[in-house]
Amino acid sequence: MIFEAMTVGSYLSNCYIVGSDETKEAAIIDPGAQFEKIDNKLKELGLIPKIIILTHAHGDHIGAVKNFIEMYSTKVYIHEDDTEMLKDPEKNFSKGITGKSISIIPDVELKDGDVIDLGGLKFEIIHTPGHTRGGICIKVENIMMTGDTLFNRSIGRTDFPGGSFDDIITSIREKIFKYDDETVVYPGHNSPSTIKSEKMGNPFLR
Ligand SMILES: [Zn+2]
Ligand SMILES: [Zn+2]
Repeated sequence: MIFEAMTVGSYLSNCYIVGSDETKEAAIIDPGAQFEKIDNKLKELGLIPKIIILTHAHGDHIGAVKNFIEMYSTKVYIHEDDTEMLKDPEKNFSKGITGKSISIIPDVELKDGDVIDLGGLKFEIIHTPGHTRGGICIKVENIMMTGDTLFNRSIGRTDFPGGSFDDIITSIREKIFKYDDETVVYPGHNSPSTIKSEKMGNPFLR
């Protein structure tokens, strides 16, 4: 597995590239901004961006999606409960965040438990509502990309439409914390962590 983390845009969103050693196909998780920066990294790694998996539809996570669709016909995956937000610029706050109104129709709508196969890699979809209704975490091998659900020593905001504090806590405790303690957490913003470290040190979850 080829794995690369990068921070993009003024909201400092984390974009992750997960590529197959075998086929050189890649999934991009949350290309939030700065298409060229992400594209240059893909070229450097010799990867082809086949799919985009969005942890949720907020503007700071979707800003460069259109560029990938136009350049590479990359297919867009999102949980079905965030589809409406992805289509509606008013709901995804894209204008305020990126300066342009973004409306995207996904190619594939995901459900909890779905597994996406790409070049021998398996991406497990874990529905974790709370930050948005259709928020997901994506697990591949021993890493989990948690979007704006779980951060290093924090959790996502729950005051946006579709947000729920009770739901996000339940999602983290019941859906994320059941995985192996050594699983490495790569959040939507800020630095990585592990499940063990968050179980012990996250002030929202002790
Ligand atoms: Zn968000
Ligand atoms: Zn965010």
